[in-house]
Amino acid sequence: MQPYSLAAQPWPSAAGRFGRFGGRYVPETLIPALDELASAYLGLRADPAFLADFTQLLREYVGRPSLLYRAQRLSARYPGLDIYLKREDLNHTGAHKINNAVGQALLAKRMGKRRIVAETGAGQHGVAAATVAALFGLDCVVYMGSEDIRRQALNVRRMELLGAEVREVHSGTATLKDATNEAIRDWVTRVRDTFYIIGSVVGPHPYPMLVRDFQSVIGQEVRWQLREQRGDRQPDVLLACVGGGSNAIGLFAPYAYLPERPRMIGVEAGGEGIQSGHHAASISGGKVGVLHGAMMYLLYDSEGQILPAHSISAGLDYPGVGPEHSFFAEQGLAEYVAVEDRGAIAGMELLARSEGILPALETAHALGYLPELQRRIGGGPEQIVVLNLSGRGDKDVAELTRLRQMAAGEVRA
Ligand SMILES: *Cc1c(COP(=O)(O)O)cnc(C)c1O
Repeated sequence: MQPYSLAAQPWPSAAGRFGRFGGRYVPETLIPALDELASAYLGLRADPAFLADFTQLLREYVGRPSLLYRAQRLSARYPGLDIYLKREDLNHTGAHKINNAVGQALLAKRMGKRRIVAETGAGQHGVAAATVAALFGLDCVVYMGSEDIRRQALNVRRMELLGAEVREVHSGTATLKDATNEAIRDWVTRVRDTFYIIGSVVGPHPYPMLVRDFQSVIGQEVRWQLREQRGDRQPDVLLACVGGGSNAIGLFAPYAYLPERPRMIGVEAGGEGIQSGHHAASISGGKVGVLHGAMMYLLYDSEGQILPAHSISAGLDYPGVGPEHSFFAEQGLAEYVAVEDRGAIAGMELLARSEGILPALETAHALGYLPELQRRIGGGPEQIVVLNLSGRGDKDVAELTRLRQMAAGEVRA
């Protein structure tokens, strides 16, 4: 195991922008809190003691390094592709989100905060936040839309068992974007003792950078694991699903600013198809706008109203995408594609049957892109593809059963 670095990726501009994206579109009252956070992090980012604490927790609590697994039976389906899976599903709590939650909780502790607030949609980030709050002995309040509370009862119960208070949000569409508004509102009123743990590479500066740096342990491990397994070969393609974009940036970031960059592909949720309007593909099907304090690609209508995102996977159901991805997309540094619900289901079934690994439905979107990737680049010399297996699929079994019964006409929507 090799040492991690949090300071290897560039700090965005002084105004917290990646190109024209990001920034701080927030009420005046939040600026001092964001400044306090940015300067605390700037001081700790290269601090050996902070890095040692972070590393120890990743190793002993999260279970890192996660495996880099060469999926030969899956690869056999796609001649020309040699596919490696980065097994974030094996982390404690079952996904990549814990990497960031551990990092931000450590930061909260160092800043002397004793209360955590968080927002959650599918409940995965809420569970990660509640987990680290328990671990660090911090109070924890998680905001969640009433619609999501209904859909994600298991995760609500998990958070409560971990000692967190789940506060129901009824405003707007009663989903993630409304929960985020409430979490920000809470933070504004209690910045002195409260730390807001954001779950993805979104929100005002310095959050997109902070979350990226904590998640970049994924790509850092891939670099040395692949060197160990394949000598001099580095990946030709990096592939990951994109909701807010944290697992994808975690894989991409250590490569993105290298002169010899692999092809980086982010897979958004195409829902029922971009044309249908029912999707969550902020880059493929959205426009530039401002949400939750940052400029990014977003889904909104001609009146400026945020459009509800749709995806079979609740974790990709966010109407925006992080500013650094927005920047990569605009500059052509990475490509962003969309895979529809049914492509994700096919990807999930294929991985389960070929490798005995049940992925999260979010992750399944990246798997669902493999047929198209093979059509595009499969003809030439063998390509090393690293696919970020962001989470495990146990949480989705009930939803898949319901969808199957609906398709068979046994139950109604
Ligand atoms: C939350 C989640 C995602 C989407 O979030 P990103 O910030 O885009 O990574 C993807 N996969 C899993 C398993 C998740 O829980």
